Amino acid sequence: MGNPISHSRSPQIHQLFAQQCGERIDYSAILVDLGGFAQAVGNFHASGGRGLNVTVPFKEEAFALADTLTPRARLAGAVNTLLLHDNHAIEGDNSDGVGLVTDLQQNQQQTLAGKRILILGAGGAVRGVLGPILEQQPLHITLANRTPSRAEALAEQFQPHGSINGGGYEALNRVAPFEIIINGTSASLAGELPPLPDSLLTGQSFCYDMMYSAEPTPFMRWAAERGVQSSDGLGMLVEQAAESFWRWRQKRPQTKAVIEQIHSM
Ligand code: NDP
Repeated sequence: MGNPISHSRSPQIHQLFAQQCGERIDYSAILVDLGGFAQAVGNFHASGGRGLNVTVPFKEEAFALADTLTPRARLAGAVNTLLLHDNHAIEGDNSDGVGLVTDLQQNQQQTLAGKRILILGAGGAVRGVLGPILEQQPLHITLANRTPSRAEALAEQFQPHGSINGGGYEALNRVAPFEIIINGTSASLAGELPPLPDSLLTGQSFCYDMMYSAEPTPFMRWAAERGVQSSDGLGMLVEQAAESFWRWRQKRPQTKAVIEQIHSM
């Protein structure tokens, strides 16, 4: 469920998972009117629906609607996966963070432990991934955002979980390079790039854009022009879907082939 939703790749991803795992599913994209989310979930549940993914702009509403929350959903303050139980109870989970960490570590072969990580943005997506990234015990996370106060507030909230600070882009002119830079802003959607000095990179840095598109994003082009490896966020999308599938069906799909198939579609 989302709004807009027509661009979603999730129905194709879950159909491929179901084929691979020998499961019968009916997973389709449901466009929900703003203000109609709780009603739509109730109708879906009553008609026999057993699981839902939730995307923009309903992740906070899904968080509020759930009767119980997993610890990672509670920390994220947002829910992207609902489990609709037989006793009418609704459980909220969040698989976005584990999706990103799995893509970075297993598919992109990036170790997070002990690394200096820069994360751009301080919106819902960044909030969702901070807990699972901090669990991997990076050396330090710097958050940079267009509205510095949002990054400062988010960093303060997560300080009990690890070493993290937040601020604006201007401060990035005075810091040492990072091993991993993650773009969690929606700037790429508008074909834009946050102001980033070249001094953030070394030849060994790795750049990851949470957005995915057929063409390299402006952030990925910025990295490539400086000889730095990068990835888009399609792997994250497939990995968070696999985690949701696992929660619903207790079967863990193989993701590598699915990422390749979705890339080539
Ligand atoms: P939000 O609207 O919650 O947050 C947007 C963030 O981007 C804010 O930090 C905002 O800064 C910043 N921003 C927006 N435009 C610009 C710009 N032109 N220059 C600099 N910063 C900008 O969005 P989400 O957090 O939900 O999503 C962020 C991105 O993550 C999207 O591209 C989305 O597609 C992607 N995503 C990918 C997933 C995947 O599975 N691959 C899963 C979830 C999200 P400010 O606070 O100043 O407004």
